[in-house]
Amino acid sequence: MPRPIHAFVDTQAIAHNLAVARRSAPGSKVWAVVKANAYGHDIDLVYPALRQADGFALLDLDEAVRVRECGWRGPILLLEGVFAASDLDIVVRHGLTQVIHCDEQLAMVEALRPAAPLPVYLKMNSGMNRVGFRPDAYRAAWQRARACASIGEITLMTHFADADGPIGTSRQLAEFERGADGLAGARSLSNSAATLWHAAARSDWVRPGIMLYGASPSGKAADTAALLRPAMSLRSELIGTQQLQPGDTVGYGSTFVADRPMRIGVVACGYADGYPRVAPTGTPIAVDGVRTRVIGRVSMDMLTVDLTPCPGAGVATPVELWGRHVAIDEVAQACGTVGYELMTALTPRVGRQREPADGGSPPTQG
Ligand SMILES: *Cc1c(COP(=O)(O)O)cnc(C)c1O
Repeated sequence: MPRPIHAFVDTQAIAHNLAVARRSAPGSKVWAVVKANAYGHDIDLVYPALRQADGFALLDLDEAVRVRECGWRGPILLLEGVFAASDLDIVVRHGLTQVIHCDEQLAMVEALRPAAPLPVYLKMNSGMNRVGFRPDAYRAAWQRARACASIGEITLMTHFADADGPIGTSRQLAEFERGADGLAGARSLSNSAATLWHAAARSDWVRPGIMLYGASPSGKAADTAALLRPAMSLRSELIGTQQLQPGDTVGYGSTFVADRPMRIGVVACGYADGYPRVAPTGTPIAVDGVRTRVIGRVSMDMLTVDLTPCPGAGVATPVELWGRHVAIDEVAQACGTVGYELMTALTPRVGRQREPADGGSPPTQG
């Protein structure tokens, strides 16, 4: 028997969330962002649910090739462009659209003689200060790209730092408008948070990622609970139980001390599966569908739970680490992080498989 831990992926939930993204940005085309192996969900598993998207956006060339191997003939966007000139072979061979965010990338494409001009996304740094041309340098970069015979369609792009929080998008939007003023080309600005919450920022192509997987860009489950459906359910089983007496301690460091007689369960899930070691006592978890709490320190392959609210639980009782009874954002919040990190940090030893209850192929949506 393999260990009983699996990440189940609900493809109907993903198709539903894509439809929500589409409804949120009427008139926009939608890049389904599937970087980091579809935020840990497995590109091959989620692909059928995202076929209604207008394109797939990701970072790694091998992931772009995997999307092609799934059968996708439409646009694929490399969100950071190429990392070396040798990558351009694959860009040409697989018909990829690349971001150009710096002079060095522009020079690599200028040195190319492709059979047909390549579509590019010209990225502006409108204030986040990671990658991109500054607003004052953007027009010159655009003109240089326009003059380049190997470049075809140019889409104007930027990325928001604060679409999920109180600062919002208006300052970056104004910078973008200033730097891109009068330049021809479609626009692509919005991540999930801007797609959901900043109508003024929506543009020709939106780029939702996290919302497709049913977690909130804000990290707060309540912000999207009514709108999105969770795509991933991380489930395992109890592999043991213990009866504690007052004063008994649990796990490494003896950080949990029983203050009364209590039963606890041992779950086949630890930090080597990607469950955060920093999850404190009190982190929500569900045993047989009943919410309870993690107690003591998370070990490499096991963690312990309070069975007080579920007295019938025993070896082989199902446990949900996150999913439907416990939102991934709740676990993330207890750990001081966001759902993005938990879903992408799941390790390869956790098998991803289709949710058995999701009943075949996802519905086509209108
Ligand atoms: C990851 C990414 C997105 C998607 O962001 P979410 O917050 O997951 O919606 C959009 N655009 C770019 C450039 C990205 O890198």
